[in-house]
Amino acid sequence: MPDTEDAQSPPPGSTPSEMFPVLTSTQQARVLAHGERRTVEVGEIVVELNEHVTSVFVVVSGQLHVQQVSNNQEHLVAICNPGMFTGELSVLMGRRGLVRIRAAEKSELFEIDRKALQALVETDSEISDIFLRAYILRRLELIALEVGDIVLVGSSHLLDTLRIKEFLTRNYQPYSYIDLERDTQVQEMLDRFSLSLDDLPVLICRGSAVLRNPSNEEIARCLGFNEGIDQAHVRDLVIVGAGPAGLAAAVYAASEGLDVLILESSGPGGQAGASSKIENYLGFPTGISGHELSGRAYAQAQKFGAEMLIAKDANGLACDRRPYRVLTGNGQSVPARTVVIASGAQYRRLQLENLSKFEGAGVYYGATYLEAQLCGGEEVIVVGGGNSAGQAAVFLAQTTTRVHMLVRSEGLAKTMSRYLIRRIEQTPSIELHTNTEVVALNGNDHLEGVTWRNNQTGQTESHNIAHLFSMTGAVPNSAWLGGCVACDQTGFIKTGSDLTTEDLEKAKWPLARSPYLLETSLPGVFAVGDIRGGNVKRVASAVGEGSIAVSFVHQVLAQ
Ligand SMILES: Cc1cc2nc3c(=O)[nH]c(=O)nc-3n(C[C@H](O)[C@H](O)[C@H](O)COP(=O)(O)OP(=O)(O)OC[C@H]3O[C@@H](n4cnc5c(N)ncnc54)[C@H](O)[C@@H]3O)c2cc1C
Repeated sequence: MPDTEDAQSPPPGSTPSEMFPVLTSTQQARVLAHGERRTVEVGEIVVELNEHVTSVFVVVSGQLHVQQVSNNQEHLVAICNPGMFTGELSVLMGRRGLVRIRAAEKSELFEIDRKALQALVETDSEISDIFLRAYILRRLELIALEVGDIVLVGSSHLLDTLRIKEFLTRNYQPYSYIDLERDTQVQEMLDRFSLSLDDLPVLICRGSAVLRNPSNEEIARCLGFNEGIDQAHVRDLVIVGAGPAGLAAAVYAASEGLDVLILESSGPGGQAGASSKIENYLGFPTGISGHELSGRAYAQAQKFGAEMLIAKDANGLACDRRPYRVLTGNGQSVPARTVVIASGAQYRRLQLENLSKFEGAGVYYGATYLEAQLCGGEEVIVVGGGNSAGQAAVFLAQTTTRVHMLVRSEGLAKTMSRYLIRRIEQTPSIELHTNTEVVALNGNDHLEGVTWRNNQTGQTESHNIAHLFSMTGAVPNSAWLGGCVACDQTGFIKTGSDLTTEDLEKAKWPLARSPYLLETSLPGVFAVGDIRGGNVKRVASAVGEGSIAVSFVHQVLAQ
């Protein structure tokens, strides 16, 4: 057996009672009724690292050790004593385990398989709370401890390093990061894997596979994100996009018994996932980060049995016959009785010739703690006059020396919520430049300077600022639909009463009834959230629309 740390030594990080709760005898009785008794000998492995976690274990007597494994060494992460249970989010997601669990002594356990656990948490709200809270907290702890065998070697000057970090973070995947610019021993590591600088960023996956600048899809494949999801059978509902709108549709549909599959290009959360703090979402008076909100929603959708294909783009819709088929590339498709389109919108890009050179290398489209780490103690620019620009400015003002806010119009009043305007006014380190546009970006590998111009006076100013946050509105992610549904002139999807008689005639609407609220010009296909024409671009409205659409999905399925 590899070396093991002293079992009595406290595990790194704390294991508070919410993270490792002890079930009361009545709670245990309700849980154990769904499992089978099993005895394990001292040293026996009950859950192996990197294997699919198909069961959880409740300890009746004895003790289990939860261990991180690196370089064939086991390090104690936590201890499960009688009344405690194993598992973390991997169980609900049906993914591979991030830890090894070994019996520290002869133990009596109850083994509950994943499906039985899912049924239990759907019906027993007290048990559901205990398990879900523990599973989310444990995953956060594993992320904080960088548990797992994923190492990213990159540089903050490379756009793909930021992309991969974002992809792993969005998917709640723990990883360790080695920055070439900061770690002098990295060359030794590169030599060990015969890598050159041109191969960067590199992801060492599961301690062995070496992926050179991998796509998100390659990473998802290596980590087994989509394993075990049947893509061939006809689903009641396929949802495209796992932002707030898609996640809400998934939670409501799955909780109401529908067979749901979500396709998501990147990871759960959508644009909201890039928000450092959402302060106007009902029920969170002190605000909540977009990442945390989507993490909770994702776990909730999994709890009700919704499945999600990660790093899977919908790139077409076969809409000429039913069931519809959502195309996913390489001749593959997912059949669906009904479809909810929740593919949202993307930030507009500044019209500057050399912009792409600096994207991720000084120019960013989200202001989360990831980006904030890159520009701490420096001056930054935020471009845009909407709420997301305002939030970014307020957030970045906490860690930077000065935030220059550039807006094209003469003020913020028409485009930003009043509470944010007040916050900006009260923050001395935010300097508002109205009637101002960026006209040039300068630098070699990384942004080094920005020139802006006052569009009233024509006067230009150049500043040595290396970080620019572009927050200038959004364009819809609807091109993949290839004209299957009616859109407005700007590409946002028309639904319900917004569809004119002309639209419906052109689309050959085949039914006697009119389209339902949120239904597109294609029967049984709905559009919700930011992708929908007339949507108000708020988390709450996206969530509301996702849930409303499900009530019409039921009606379509019943027809
Ligand atoms: C930085 C920032 C801060 C914000 N702050 C707030 C706030 O404080 N309060 C508030 O109310 N609103 C806020 N918003 C707006 C809010 O986030 C959006 O209105 C909301 O996220 C829209 O949700 P959605 O699900 O419709 O779309 P999105 O959030 O855009 O999600 C769409 C999802 O679809 C996926 N996708 C796209 N195309 C495809 C495809 N072809 N195949 C598969 N998947 C696809 C994307 O990867 C994405 O995950 C903020 C937005 C940003 C960017």
